[in-house]
Formats: sequence, C-alpha cells, structure tokens
Amino acid sequence: MSRPDSQPWYSGAHRALEPDVGPVDEHALCECGHCDRKQRYRLPWPEVGGDVAYCGYHVARYRHHNRELWERIRSLDDVEDPDAYAVVGDRFLTLDEVPEEISVDGKRMRRVALGVDGWALFDSAEPDNDGEVRFVTVDRSLEPRESVEISRSSAGEFLNWFREHEGVHDLDPDARRALYGGEPRDV
Ligand SMILES: [Zn+2]
Repeated sequence: MSRPDSQPWYSGAHRALEPDVGPVDEHALCECGHCDRKQRYRLPWPEVGGDVAYCGYHVARYRHHNRELWERIRSLDDVEDPDAYAVVGDRFLTLDEVPEEISVDGKRMRRVALGVDGWALFDSAEPDNDGEVRFVTVDRSLEPRESVEISRSSAGEFLNWFREHEGVHDLDPDARRALYGGEPRDV
C-alpha cells in the first residue's frame, strides 16, 4: 500500500508534518483499483497512513470525500495546490448524482451502480420480447458509452462480472439487495 521510500502523513505527534503529497510524473496507473487512467497527484491515504497516487477523476473523488484533509493539503506551503489536478470531466462523482431512472432509445432504464470509471451502469426496467435485458453505461451527460444485451437469467452473473472486472464505487440499494438478498428485483 505504501512505498518503502514514502513518508507517513504524520511522522509522530511530536514532529513536524511530513506529507508525501504533490503531482507525480511517473507514468504509472492510478492506484484506485480497476482504474486504467494515468496517476497525476499523490495524496495522503485518509485512514491508515501512507499515500496513494490518483488520476484526475479519483483526485476529484478524494476531494469530495475528504474535505478536511483536502483543505489541510491546500494550506501546506511547499505543496502544489491539488485543485488543479482534480478533474471530474463527464463523469459522476457519486451515486447520488446519478438519476434513478433514465430513458435510453425510448426504453426505461434503472440505476444499478456507479462504476470505477465514473460512468453509471443502468439496466432495462423490463426485459424485451426475447427475455433479454440490456445493461448500458452512461456518462454524466447521460450519453450511452457501452451496452450489452443478455438473457435475464444471466443478469446477476453479469453484475458480478462487472464488479470484479470493471469495478464499482457504489451499488444502487435495490441492486445491492438483489445481489446479497438473493431476491429478484421487481419489474
Ligand atoms: Zn483513477
């Protein structure tokens, strides 16, 4: 989690703050699991010490979730202001920003999850005549990005695959119940 040469955020109660934060020019990937964008800025790990380098989108999510820590980083004299590195783009920061229902090609779609890439995953409210449901990811402008049609009986399997391979930040409460409660979702 933390690199051998990294400094802890706190080096101890009686010593000065020694953050290892700031822009990175390593061409490595964002350290948020499943994210395939380049890392831009290194931030203190909010819970257990150490640090983590994120892409612009995940820097923006970090700012959203760690306001107090963010302001402390911004107040440090020797550290470049992280605000310039926080880039939301056409992505959703949180599941709350994602509408619960949208219409795609005239079909009603329900919110399922916020993916690690910042796009929201939706599924068909009703299966089509062939018993297929559609999953679609949309960006913040509600423009469809990726789409897949599968038989309704494989929907749970698909969602598990999506979580393991694409990664999700948050699941819609209904989808969470469906996954963990073993009950089919109402249609
Ligand atoms: Zn990222």
